[in-house]
Amino acid sequence: MDKIKMTTPLVEMDGDEMTRILWKMIKEELILPYVDLKTEYYDLGLEHRNETDDQVTVDSANATLKYGVAVKCATITPNAARMTEYHLKEMWKSPNGTIRAILDGTVFRAPILVKGIVPYVKNWTRPITIARHAYGDVYKNTEIKVPGAGRAELVFTAQDGTQVRELIHEFDGAGILQGIHNTEKSILSFARACFAYAADTRQDLWFSTKDTISKKYDHTFKDIFQEVYDTEYKKIFEELGIEYFYTLIDDAVARVIRSEGGFIWACKNYDGDVMSDMVATAYGDLSMMTSVLVSPNGVYEYEAAHGTVQRHYYKHLKGEETSTNSIATIFAWTGALRKRGELDGNRELADFADSLERACIRTVEEGRMTKSLSLISTCEHPVILNSLDFIRAIRETFDAMR
Ligand code: NAP
Ligand code: MG
Repeated sequence: MDKIKMTTPLVEMDGDEMTRILWKMIKEELILPYVDLKTEYYDLGLEHRNETDDQVTVDSANATLKYGVAVKCATITPNAARMTEYHLKEMWKSPNGTIRAILDGTVFRAPILVKGIVPYVKNWTRPITIARHAYGDVYKNTEIKVPGAGRAELVFTAQDGTQVRELIHEFDGAGILQGIHNTEKSILSFARACFAYAADTRQDLWFSTKDTISKKYDHTFKDIFQEVYDTEYKKIFEELGIEYFYTLIDDAVARVIRSEGGFIWACKNYDGDVMSDMVATAYGDLSMMTSVLVSPNGVYEYEAAHGTVQRHYYKHLKGEETSTNSIATIFAWTGALRKRGELDGNRELADFADSLERACIRTVEEGRMTKSLSLISTCEHPVILNSLDFIRAIRETFDAMR
């Protein structure tokens, strides 16, 4: 069999710990035998980030802007313990944060559904994708612990020195204060990424805020989304037969629970933080969540939603057997290969990605899975496989399907 040719390289961002081990296995067992793989490789493993003073992360993001599609392995975000473990020169920032800032992107997270792993919400038969705005609000707040009586005001000083003042509260005793902000530019990028991704995946887009209470702050989010829809996406959505739907956050929560899924739910930063954990848990397993970073101008970076699975890695280092689920990382590869195929008019490559995804799902549905999946599967006699054997089982299914 001839291998599938590629015309444009994918940006490949390697990572850390257990997922780095899986990365190599996935490439060797599931990609390289079938695809004449072209990638521009960046090693985002913590050691190499440290050696390059994290320049490699910046370079990989710029390469993504150049080529349009990247696939990323999970990476360590350093903390105090990692400083000593890896003898770091500095506590390097989260690679995801750095890449997101350069791509000006929004993260979309969606569950991978398989029969036998039943969502806690019975009627969720299709995936719900959460898009979380990743800038501002309470995550860039300024807080004061008010010690006693006094007046709190909100003051904005324009560059010409003119001021706008609003009374926040006349305190007659101790209390608390918080200042938050967002920018029109960031909200606009968020809105554009959401509409672009909805059109790309042909799914309805829902957006929710609390604009009835927050008549300026949240209302601005609502207005910007509506304007992007009206001026840039209305026609496209009508042609695709998909809808943009705005509702209040509390109404959205009620409707999401009653829905069957199959749409994108765009959330403000805090709502997205909270709701993504709820949705992920309700679908079953973090190791079955995919994640894609989409920039407002249509650049895509695919990854798994989980981290480097550190605990499994330490077992692996001790020579113990691991049963780590590679599906979300495989879907990061298939997502990127499919997108590359679409952009290059390379049908074979996109079809390969689709088939490999079906092979993953079929393998689990036929009862061969990793340990964590067996714990939540309704399959009566699951065969529990180790990390490598699970990937090999997917390969067997894939070969049998061809
Ligand atoms: P994690 O890697 O997501 O793992 C947390 C736990 O979830 C694991 O210990 C394991 O549970 C389970 N799990 C996650 N993925 C799994 C998989 N594919 N198969 C089976 N079980 C899986 O989170 P963490 O341990 O908190 O973080 C480890 C490192 O990842 C940190 O350094 C963090 O900075 C980094 N991280 C990176 C990203 C990213 O690059 N996008 C995201 C999150 C975290 P059991 O141990 O109970 O089996
Ligand atoms: Mg959270």
